[in-house]
Amino acid sequence: MSKVPELFGSMVFSGSVMRDRLPQAAWHSLQKTIQEGTPLDPAVADAVAAAMKDWAVSKGATHFTHWFQPMTGITAEKHDSFLHPVAGGGVLMEFSGKELVKGEPDASSFPSGGLRATFEARGYTAWDPTSYAFIKDETLCIPTAFCSYTGEVLDKKTPLLRSMDALSRQACRILALLGSPAKRVNAAVGPEQEYFLINKADYARRPDLLLTGRTLLGAPAPKGQELEDHYFGSIRPRVKAFMADLDEELWKLGICAKTEHNEVAPAQHEMAPIFATANIATDANQLAMEVMKKVADRHGFACLLHEKPFAGVNGSGKHNNWSLCTDTGENLLEPGTTPAENTQFLLFLTAVIKAVDDYQDLLRISVASAGNDHRLGANEAPPAIVSIFVGGELQGVVDALVSGRPFAGAAQPDLDTGAVVLPNIPKDNSDRNRTSPFAFTGNKFEFRMPGSSFNIACTNLMLNTAVAEALRLFADELESAPNPERGMADLIRRELAAHRRILFNGNGYSAEWEAEAARRGLANYRTTPEALAHYTDEKNVRLFAQHGVLTLSEMRSRQQICLGEYAKAVRIEALTLLDLVHRWVAPACIGYSRELAEGVAAKKALGIEAEEEQGLAALITAHTGALLAAARGLAQTVQALPGGPAAAAPRCAGEVLPAMAAVRAQADCLEGMVSKERWPLPGYTDLLFYA
Ligand code: ADP
Ligand code: MG
Repeated sequence: MSKVPELFGSMVFSGSVMRDRLPQAAWHSLQKTIQEGTPLDPAVADAVAAAMKDWAVSKGATHFTHWFQPMTGITAEKHDSFLHPVAGGGVLMEFSGKELVKGEPDASSFPSGGLRATFEARGYTAWDPTSYAFIKDETLCIPTAFCSYTGEVLDKKTPLLRSMDALSRQACRILALLGSPAKRVNAAVGPEQEYFLINKADYARRPDLLLTGRTLLGAPAPKGQELEDHYFGSIRPRVKAFMADLDEELWKLGICAKTEHNEVAPAQHEMAPIFATANIATDANQLAMEVMKKVADRHGFACLLHEKPFAGVNGSGKHNNWSLCTDTGENLLEPGTTPAENTQFLLFLTAVIKAVDDYQDLLRISVASAGNDHRLGANEAPPAIVSIFVGGELQGVVDALVSGRPFAGAAQPDLDTGAVVLPNIPKDNSDRNRTSPFAFTGNKFEFRMPGSSFNIACTNLMLNTAVAEALRLFADELESAPNPERGMADLIRRELAAHRRILFNGNGYSAEWEAEAARRGLANYRTTPEALAHYTDEKNVRLFAQHGVLTLSEMRSRQQICLGEYAKAVRIEALTLLDLVHRWVAPACIGYSRELAEGVAAKKALGIEAEEEQGLAALITAHTGALLAAARGLAQTVQALPGGPAAAAPRCAGEVLPAMAAVRAQADCLEGMVSKERWPLPGYTDLLFYA
């Protein structure tokens, strides 16, 4: 580990590598593009491409790819070698500026949500010079945006970049009013990634995990997470070895993996990197998920990134820590020691509160998927209702401002541990609230609703744009205010009063909150189709058009893609479950009950009493019948699904999922009665509690 500084970023064409390898003029021109967003000069592209290729070849790379993030949620790549034949039969390793800047993958098989017909195959990838190129599997990967021949976006990166520009533009207007010299404000993001590790051999024996990412049936293990002995528990050696290897692989790619720990559920863990600019953090997280799976495989594990791989224990999320950082090194969400008097902090805090209240629906939509629906609202993850936790002190500040009273709160005293040998601990200005979907945690907000498998681009583009809009309205008002200072105070008070309903510091898991939230008029979209129906609400269309982030047709396309993805995911789950029942579980149950019955008959012939065994055979037979009947019901429900995603999705939520639950109830009951030897699938004990 002494070589960490050398290892770190060794596979990244980073700023310092560029400075070393690029001609000075090219370096300066590229820096201008990266920092100020100016268009890139084609001559510079040639110079960068040549330097990139030489560097990559020196690291053993033979191929390059434009690495992009289509709407599938995963990353895509098409590899081309650097090889160029030369007269006489030899080859040269070449890479031109043109190849660096633009690619033309066939776009026809990526989801476009109706933006284009399948025969309109042309799509373009365009280099994002703000995210560094890197080497993965002997391939130089160039982060790119992806759009159609007609210029409509087909990926997750482009609108994120647009939203970052919008946010920066509006935040700088406010900062200018406050006399700040800042020229750029970036959303900083640190995503905490939860995941499960299970034995690869068990994974391979579970078609449901292979095909859908989650167990569609499985009786609970006798022990779950009730002893709370896994959270932060000591990490078992095999997992520790995986984590060490993972850290090393991520560090090579310049990803600052920082924290690794055991999570609440058995076999559940978390990896958190140090935060970075939103688009870089997004790229890094996409890459990290891929690396986690590969490294797990090397260690005999399968890494599960699904939001709810196991019923009855916690699912996995991806906490999106978000703050606003200026090019002058300031965090705009830093409250300082006297937040009540910190106008800059209060303006930005108010903007976030207003944004989250006005665009609750978009935040909910940004985390909507078949997988995450199992998590949101379950007793382990924030509910489907969006609300903000600000903690005791800030709530006091807000209440005082709204009521016009001076803020009476004193600074937090140090925490006296009561033991003489221990130092007193400075207290944070807020406690933690695990049940809040959107929690202020010191100098950043932590959005806890995203699912573990998500691309965080979507969440961040929604958040960035919503906050940009709040700041735009503030700036419009304040720029024309006769007395800006008075204007700011009035605006903060008025907006906090208007949006106070979104603040909630209590237990977000409780039924009382659901009722209270309804009284406050907060949205509660329990399922993905319910949430997605609001994507193209007029206010949302206006928002994205105002800031040039998404056009109406791009929004419609995204809505269709998400609905389609949802309906397809549920359908695949239903078909997988039916396959499991008919070809795996039911035959095992039928065989075992027959074995029991034959045993009972043989015993009876010898005069041996076997009443309990007979009862068990009868019970298994009865439940097997119920299982097959429930499966028939599920099959009919699936067959009756309409073709189009918009029509199918709500029926998947309302009919298919309940039908699947009915099947599962029978299967899980049978698992508790049938011999382990006969049961065809590894059970929850095998999956979650391994040596
Ligand atoms: P916890 O949420 O458990 O307290 P940390 O404080 O370590 O954990 O932060 C979790 C994540 O938040 C990390 O990825 C960290 O880099 C990120 N983070 C910390 N400060 C900021 C910030 N100002 N803006 C965005 N992300 C941040
Ligand atoms: Mg956290």
